[in-house]
Amino acid sequence: MPTAPVPANPLALPIAQLRGVGAERAAQLNRLDLHTVGDLLLHRPRRYEDRRQFRPIVQLQEGEPALTRGHIVAQGVKRFARGRKSVFELILDDGSARLHCRWWNLPFMERYFAIGDDVLVFGKPLSLRPCTMDHPETEVVVNDAESQLHLNRIVPVHSLTEGLPQRWLRGLLWRAVRDFAPHVAEPQPAHVGQPSRAEAIRMLHFPERLDDVEIARKRMALDEFVALQLAMQKRRRAWESRAAALPCAGTNQLIRPFLDRLGFQLTVAQTTVLREIRADLGGRHPMRRLLQGDVGAGKTVVAACAALMALESGRSVALMDPTEILAEQHFNTFRGWLEPLGIEVHLLTGSRKTNASQKSKRRTLQTRALFIGTHALLEGDFTPENLGLIIIDEQHKFGVAQRERLLRKGHYPHLLVMTATPIPRTLGLTLYGDLDVSVIDQLPAGRGRLRTHVRTSETLPKVIEFIREQLAQGRQAYVVYSRVDEESLAAGVKAVRAESEKLGVALAPFRVAALHGRLKSAEKESVMAAFRANELQVLVATTVIEVGVDVPNATVMLIENAEQFGLAQLHQLRGRIGRGAHDSHCILFSNADTPEVRKRLEVLAETNDGFKVAEADLLLRGPGDLLGRDQSGLPNLRFGDLARDLPLLEQARELAAKSLRASPSS
Ligand code: ADP
Ligand code: MG
Repeated sequence: MPTAPVPANPLALPIAQLRGVGAERAAQLNRLDLHTVGDLLLHRPRRYEDRRQFRPIVQLQEGEPALTRGHIVAQGVKRFARGRKSVFELILDDGSARLHCRWWNLPFMERYFAIGDDVLVFGKPLSLRPCTMDHPETEVVVNDAESQLHLNRIVPVHSLTEGLPQRWLRGLLWRAVRDFAPHVAEPQPAHVGQPSRAEAIRMLHFPERLDDVEIARKRMALDEFVALQLAMQKRRRAWESRAAALPCAGTNQLIRPFLDRLGFQLTVAQTTVLREIRADLGGRHPMRRLLQGDVGAGKTVVAACAALMALESGRSVALMDPTEILAEQHFNTFRGWLEPLGIEVHLLTGSRKTNASQKSKRRTLQTRALFIGTHALLEGDFTPENLGLIIIDEQHKFGVAQRERLLRKGHYPHLLVMTATPIPRTLGLTLYGDLDVSVIDQLPAGRGRLRTHVRTSETLPKVIEFIREQLAQGRQAYVVYSRVDEESLAAGVKAVRAESEKLGVALAPFRVAALHGRLKSAEKESVMAAFRANELQVLVATTVIEVGVDVPNATVMLIENAEQFGLAQLHQLRGRIGRGAHDSHCILFSNADTPEVRKRLEVLAETNDGFKVAEADLLLRGPGDLLGRDQSGLPNLRFGDLARDLPLLEQARELAAKSLRASPSS
């Protein structure tokens, strides 16, 4: 029998109760969001220092980060600008040379050092004569009982907060790992060659070899991914056990005449996807399907067929779009397609809401209808009866919460979400792991070629000439800027309003107009209508045209300040052209002409394959940027890396499925 009660979960112990942690230190740790022992063990080191060898000062290279060591031979604070500014400088000597370390406007730094101190320095020399570093990271060597922990080994360097010394935190972690790692539970058994979770935590903080760090990270990432996959698979299972589907597979009564009048044949890929959708709509559980297809692959007509199946079955359908422009466009397209079949189509956007929803409320009770709208569909006054199918276009522009909110408007309706941002598989598994996936992997035949060119804006006169030639042949063009106005812009970033006036002059007599988010809805609508009718030849726009806009006669797109956009976003933008039979050209202007920018943009010149573009974007900018600011569904990962961990994610998915099969009730 144990003599003292063992706490149920030692890892839940508040940090403040650890030996050596007083109120002040506890408050500092809390500021780093570290509250329990468990949090502390997961405080991932920011980097590591191999303190078994130091670079002699004389061998330091300009601009190259390195670890060195020396004794302080001089130090002091200089004040200037009437005492408002200061620099603290210390000079180290290691026998090979001297190193000047400077800290600007941090005069209190003086307190931490004394002449004769043995100091470790990590930093990047600004210049070599004399060898100087600004704001390096430092640690004074102390000879005490713990010094073997801080020297002659690989040490972790953690994120800190003001007043918290690196050396103290390292000591605390050492004791925490020693005392608490044995209590770390094993969420799944370690595989061959893989450390246990407890071992991984030890390796993460105090690795014996630098390679251990990545081995440990992978183990921790796997646990993270398994937890995510379990949650997702449980969610799906719960909903499958609860919901019986509304039969929505249709009768072919509307689809047949629709396809007859469409004017083109569906591609094989479109037909295959429709077969998958029809099976879902007639299945036991409500459909939850993601439809992926590169820009221009023809997702809209697939959505129309899916809608028709539900309508044939006597249900209503809601289609949600991320922008008013797109909702308007879909409204026009679907009206043209469905009204001849006797189906009512309604538009609900911020500016149209009141009218449409009042009218629709009166009618939907007895009729099936298609409701097309923006976020306005999420609001309380949109209460359709009899909702059988929900379609969300450009799903990546919405968050998961919005998707769920729309679903609650019906009684377990079917769901089809569509996206043109090809989602690398890691993200797909993480964000859409609870959805089935269909892919349209083929563009309709008869499209002209789309070529992309990277240029500097000195070539503008030539490009204007080229645009003029294309206009003279009857084509249309887009010119895209990142901003609406010049105000508060970095120098050189051009903006829509001013440039559309200049282009109007340069391209006369062709007609040029501006389109951006600050126009009133009615203005946006009339500009788009004029562009569609080719009464306007050039549209000068912000990224409001990024998604969905479909004007096949437009064949040129000039994007200014292309370096301001992500690759996936540029791919979406250029997807506005190359939709017709004529060859198209996308010209990317960039003034930030660094090799990195050029390399990034060249990816687009090299491939039209959206998947390749998305993979590159994920590696270069990370998942948040790839999916856009509006994406709220990304999990907070401490160890997992969505750009690189596909094999781990796939392993996690299987482990999660296996553990659910083993304990079906959990
Ligand atoms: P996205 O997948 O980007 O939403 P759209 O649905 O807007 O693409 O389709 C792009 C264009 O291709 C539209 O003008 C559409 O009418 C046309 N289209 C779609 N499917 C076909 C097809 N099978 N054959 C020819 N044109 C098609
Ligand atoms: Mg579309």
